[in-house]
Amino acid sequence: MVGTVRKIAVLGATGSIGGSTLDVIARHPERFRASALSANADVDGLVALCRKFSPEVAIIAREDLYPALRDGLAEAAPATRAMAGADALVEVAASGLCDTVVAAIVGSAGLGSTLAAAHAGKRILLANKESIVVGGALLMQAVRASGAQLLPVDSEHNAIYQCLPAPAIGAVRHPTVRRLLLTASGGPFRGWSRERLAQVTPEQACAHPNWRMGRKISVDSATLMNKGLEVIEAHWLFDAPPERIGVVVHPQSIVHSMVQYCDGSTLAQLGNPDMRTALSYGLAWPERIEAGVADLDLAAIARLDFQPPDEVAFPCLRLAREALCEGPAATTVLNAANEVAVSAFLQGRLRFLGIAAVLETTLARLHERAADDLPALLETDAHARRIAQSLIESEDC
Ligand code: NAD
Ligand code: MG
Repeated sequence: MVGTVRKIAVLGATGSIGGSTLDVIARHPERFRASALSANADVDGLVALCRKFSPEVAIIAREDLYPALRDGLAEAAPATRAMAGADALVEVAASGLCDTVVAAIVGSAGLGSTLAAAHAGKRILLANKESIVVGGALLMQAVRASGAQLLPVDSEHNAIYQCLPAPAIGAVRHPTVRRLLLTASGGPFRGWSRERLAQVTPEQACAHPNWRMGRKISVDSATLMNKGLEVIEAHWLFDAPPERIGVVVHPQSIVHSMVQYCDGSTLAQLGNPDMRTALSYGLAWPERIEAGVADLDLAAIARLDFQPPDEVAFPCLRLAREALCEGPAATTVLNAANEVAVSAFLQGRLRFLGIAAVLETTLARLHERAADDLPALLETDAHARRIAQSLIESEDC
């Protein structure tokens, strides 16, 4: 796109992925312009970003905060228009205000705007894995129908995208590709027994050894649910049957993931654990640009270790695989129950081992298994949240 400036909507701009995206955008003003920024409730954080990037619009998801955003922008960024609500996210994602959408909202709250961007044929940098876990079939259909460019920026999927033959989306059916191999850091509790895990606190769970991330994905990394969600994500992105998606624990987070071919070759993408690599790849694709990431120094790292995941101490990975084999309604239930359980854990209302217990019981109790359109998925999501919430309140888990 030499000579054309990409107009980027960063949805979830105040988060960890949002911040890394804006860092890359700021390094390349001749290529990129942040034209729309959004946040859930952090008005001050959003206004500060608007002061710096002067986007055309800023959206606060919580509608009651619209007056605060409007007044903050009037003083800090008068050229930026205030908008509010989930509908505004959908409207902006589909509009001419942007040609690229960075889907960096956390949770299935990002589904509507991601789908809107897909229907509108945008380039989508997908970080928001929950949206593809819930709406994978719908999202991939919309991408195919509109010709949208879907570029995974979850580091594992970005690595696989780089290692697959082009076009990578849907490529696992390619006759030479045998298997995708996702790496997992193992999180802060790698090697811990269930007895030790019974005592862990939110602060310990959020202290990831290699990555600085939002609190929800940090807890998901600690339970291994993050890897479970990523197996489901890989299934949809690359059209990969579950049995051809492997997981290996790699504590250093240097090998971001791998693709195995029929001739015995395994291709890997390596790098420092810094999301700006994947984000710059998605922003500039098919070119590569400077991302502010330090060169990899393998002699200093000295060793790369690999081991199988412990699915006894960390049952969430197994639960995710089972839900994937069952179908989209089950993965929607899994994701919704997980969002509720993680939130309760972070608020001190559920113990760490209770997260997997809530998922297992919610999956067992919710038997409606046909959810192939958006209203049905949203209904299943809401129903699963109610069940998970009541399990937590009754202290059944
Ligand atoms: P975060 O908590 O740091 O940021 C989340 C962003 O979403 C914030 O801007 C927040 O205001 C917004 N948001 C939260 N709830 C919302 C709602 N209901 N409606 C609208 N906006 C809402 O999270 P993060 O770590 O940046 O992760 C964002 C997404 O990217 C997640 O899906 C995560 O799994 C994925 N991801 C993150 C990383 C990482 O390194 N942080 C890596 C891979 C994938
Ligand atoms: Mg990841």
